[in-house]
Amino acid sequence: MENVVIIGTGAAGYTAAIYTARAQLNPLMISGQLPGGQLTQTTDVENYPGFSDGILGFDLMDSMRKQAERFECRIQSNTVTDVNFKNGGPQELILDNGETITSKTVIISTGASPNWLGLDSEEKLKNKGVSSCATCDGAFFRDVPICVIGGGDTAMEEATFLTRYASKVIIVHRRNEFRASKIMVGRALNNPGIEVSWDSVPVEFLDVNEGKVTGLIVKDVRTNEQKTIECGAIFVAIGHRPNTAAFRQVIELDENGYIKVQDVTARTNISGVFAAGDCVDHVYRQAVTAAGMGCKAGIDAERWLEAQ
Ligand code: NAP
Repeated sequence: MENVVIIGTGAAGYTAAIYTARAQLNPLMISGQLPGGQLTQTTDVENYPGFSDGILGFDLMDSMRKQAERFECRIQSNTVTDVNFKNGGPQELILDNGETITSKTVIISTGASPNWLGLDSEEKLKNKGVSSCATCDGAFFRDVPICVIGGGDTAMEEATFLTRYASKVIIVHRRNEFRASKIMVGRALNNPGIEVSWDSVPVEFLDVNEGKVTGLIVKDVRTNEQKTIECGAIFVAIGHRPNTAAFRQVIELDENGYIKVQDVTARTNISGVFAAGDCVDHVYRQAVTAAGMGCKAGIDAERWLEAQ
C-alpha cells in the first residue's frame, strides 16, 4: 500500500510531492491528462517569486518535476477515473488503464480548466494574443485595445486589471446585462478605460494568417450584423471548470464544483484525503498560491500519517 498518492502534476501537486518526498513518504504522483498543468500552456511567467527575469511556464513546471524526482518521487502517466474513498482509509484509486491503487492518504491537486468558446481561430491564436489569464499575460499587451469576453465576475476583474496596460478595454458580452456581482459591475462600468459591446457574440478571432491578434469579429444577436473590434489581445473569461468530476460522489464540493477544505488546512470531508490548488481555489488561481496550498497538503498528509 502507498503512503501518499498525489493526483495531478501542477504547481500544487509538485509542491506536495516535494514535501512528502523529503519527509521520506515515497509519494506516487498520477500525472493526469495535462502533465505540468495549466502553466505548461502559458509562455512567460513573470510573477512567480525567485525568477527575476521571468521563466517560461513549461520550464518552471519541468524544474518542479525534476525537484520532486530528485527526492525519489515516482510519477505515473495515467488518469484517475474513479475513487473509492472512506473515512480513515485505505483509499482506492481506479486508473484509466484499469489498475487499482491503494493508499493510506491521497492529495487531490487536479486543477481547473478554463472554458473556451470553441472557435477554430481562437484555438489557433492561443498564446499569440489569446489568453484566459490576465494576471499571467496582461503585461505583454501595453497601449493596445484589449477585448475581454464574458459577463461574470472574472470578466469584470480581468477587464479592470487590464486597464493598467491597455489603451482601452472592450468587454464583449452576449447579453445586455452582466451576471457579475453589483460591486464588480459598478467598478468596471465606472472605469473610463472600459467600454462594453453588449449583445455581442464572438464570431472570429483575427488574424490567423498573421499569427497574432489584430481584432475580433462579433455579431449583434439582435440584428445579426457583424462588426470588427480592433484589438491586440483577447482574454476569454467565460468561467473555469474545476477538474473534480471523478470525486463528485464522495468529496464535498461547493456549488461550482470546487473542493471544500476545512479552515485554513487542506483537509477534505474524508479523513486522509487532502486537496490543494485550483481544484479548491476559485479566487486566486495563481501558481504561487497553488504551490502554497500544495505545501499545506503535504504537511497535513505527513501529520495525518504520523498520528495514525
Ligand atoms: P461565470 O460567473 O460562470 O460567468 C461566465 C460568463 O461567461 C457569463 O457572463 C456567461 O454569459 C459568459 N459565457 C459563458 N459561456 C459563454 C459562451 N459560450 N459565449 C459567450 N459568453 C459565455 O464565471 P466566472 O466569471 O469565472 O465566475 C465563476 C465563479 O467565481 C462565480 O461564482 C464568481 O462569483 C466567482 N468569482 C469571484 C470573484 C471575486 O469575488 N473576486 C472573481 C472571479 C470569480 P451569461 O451571463 O450570458 O451566461
